[in-house]
Amino acid sequence: MATQMERGVPLSVLCPKFLHANSTSHTWPFSAIAELIDNAYDPDVSAKQFWIDKTVIKGQDCLTFVDNGNGLTYEAMLKMFSFGYSDKIAVNGLEPIGIYGNGFKSGSMRLGQDAIVFSKSEKASCVGMFSQSYLKEIGAEQIIVPIVSFELTEQDKNILYLEQHKASLKDILRYSPFKTQAELLTEIRAINSTCSTGTTGTRIIIWNLRKTSTGLTEFDFMKDCYDIQISSEVYEAINDKPQPERTTSSIPESEYSLRAYCSILYLKPRMQIIIRGQKVKTQLISKSLAYIAKDYYRPTFVTKRIPITFGYNTKSKDQYGIMMYHKNRLIKAYERVGCQLKANISGLGVIGVIECNFLDLSQSKENFDNTDKYRKTITSLGIKLEEYWKEIRFKRNKEDPNSIPVEDTMKRPDQNWAQCDECLRWRKLPDGIDCSLLPEKWLCHMNPDPQFRSCVVDEEPEDSDDDRPSYRKTYKQQEREEKLKQERKRKRTEEDIANLAKQNEDLRKEREALKRKLNEKTVSPLASPRNTPRSSLQGGAARAKSSSIVLSTLSQAACSPSSSSSLPKISSVHSLSTPPR
Ligand code: ZN
Repeated sequence: MATQMERGVPLSVLCPKFLHANSTSHTWPFSAIAELIDNAYDPDVSAKQFWIDKTVIKGQDCLTFVDNGNGLTYEAMLKMFSFGYSDKIAVNGLEPIGIYGNGFKSGSMRLGQDAIVFSKSEKASCVGMFSQSYLKEIGAEQIIVPIVSFELTEQDKNILYLEQHKASLKDILRYSPFKTQAELLTEIRAINSTCSTGTTGTRIIIWNLRKTSTGLTEFDFMKDCYDIQISSEVYEAINDKPQPERTTSSIPESEYSLRAYCSILYLKPRMQIIIRGQKVKTQLISKSLAYIAKDYYRPTFVTKRIPITFGYNTKSKDQYGIMMYHKNRLIKAYERVGCQLKANISGLGVIGVIECNFLDLSQSKENFDNTDKYRKTITSLGIKLEEYWKEIRFKRNKEDPNSIPVEDTMKRPDQNWAQCDECLRWRKLPDGIDCSLLPEKWLCHMNPDPQFRSCVVDEEPEDSDDDRPSYRKTYKQQEREEKLKQERKRKRTEEDIANLAKQNEDLRKEREALKRKLNEKTVSPLASPRNTPRSSLQGGAARAKSSSIVLSTLSQAACSPSSSSSLPKISSVHSLSTPPR
């Protein structure tokens, strides 16, 4: 290994094998695709549209990803091909999702062996190759990345490139599927033809797609020609368990359908995603629920309270749990918490939506770091979810004790929101509108609400109720009353027992006294036993007998203080034990 030096000090280098190792952080292929989507979504690129396709180039299955964002300069592309260089900053309040400067590398290399990137920015057009096969073939000891910057002249007819990029161009033409400059030019032009608006953008092509042990690509392109799905074989390998029937099972569609996953990828979608030519119907997940209620989480480690939206899944009662976002991006979906983990109906059908910007992300963004903060958050979410579930049930039972559980009813979202195809703003629609019946291309001017009927009008604040308190948990009042009732009952029982014990003690004393009296009379030589009044003796024995009945009944009562049924018996015995007068 040749040592590179800087000021006489050796530089650390990366072995090409690292590319594969680095990609293994994504255990799930969609998380790798999401990295590429995030890059286009982030404010430095700020794309409005993102196209995902499967194509065949020179007989090879390829995945292509195209955005109409700002495009990359030579320097930006070199940074994207390097490790840990992330200088993304928030723009107009939009926070970048990428923070580690690793998304493109780990994501693209998880999907396939090789990638080529075409990009058109305002300044120049660039082509770069990020390829494991290439590095292997040339026997590279370090990761080298051929990049060429072009200047397109005379209506893009000629390509001019700098002399220093000559070696890069030669390698790209030799080791990529594109063998001539003209072919590269065609691909650069394809960026513009895909994007209806704007002249800048980036096109990523990934080939040598990852295959399963049986030689098939891990994606199923056949099942649905407008979707990219994870094959059952791959699903089972990832989850280490056989996959139940998809149509009827509790497996959320987002786990195996890219289209379903992309529809919930962002808490508030601001970019259109088009998969295999068909637009993904994005949704505002927190508005798509029924019986929505807002609660708040106040962790000690954050200064402000964090809103949580609870509601019922309107599509399937078997898909429930917490949807956890981080800076607008979905990290964990349908995470079951608290009572939902028990094998009963508690929390069935309930969805919680929370944006946890205060938690740390794992590198692959598939998970949060399992810290104390994370565990506390999950515990708290479990408690709050159960409270919501109890409240809905309580209210429903109050209205109609014979009503069927909410999860088993047909539900519609509480609110309807539509996204304008042109300005991508979200508009609230009047109640009663069925969003599934809206036209494929919906625009602001179709909005029935005149106040928001134009693309130049700002969005209405979605979270205008953020300063409101949490919903009222009325079931708790009922629970408190119930508790008080029980407490009062317990006290009454205790008093009864104490009274009986006292009566018993009195009886015992009386019996003792009677015994003593009897003994005195027996011991006295003057007294004849025949003179002892028979009735008095009999009365004493009867009393002694009856007091023992009281004793045994009392011990029964003491054993089960809550059992009120034994109490009337005691009082009846008590009346029996009263000395006959
Ligand atoms: Zn609009």
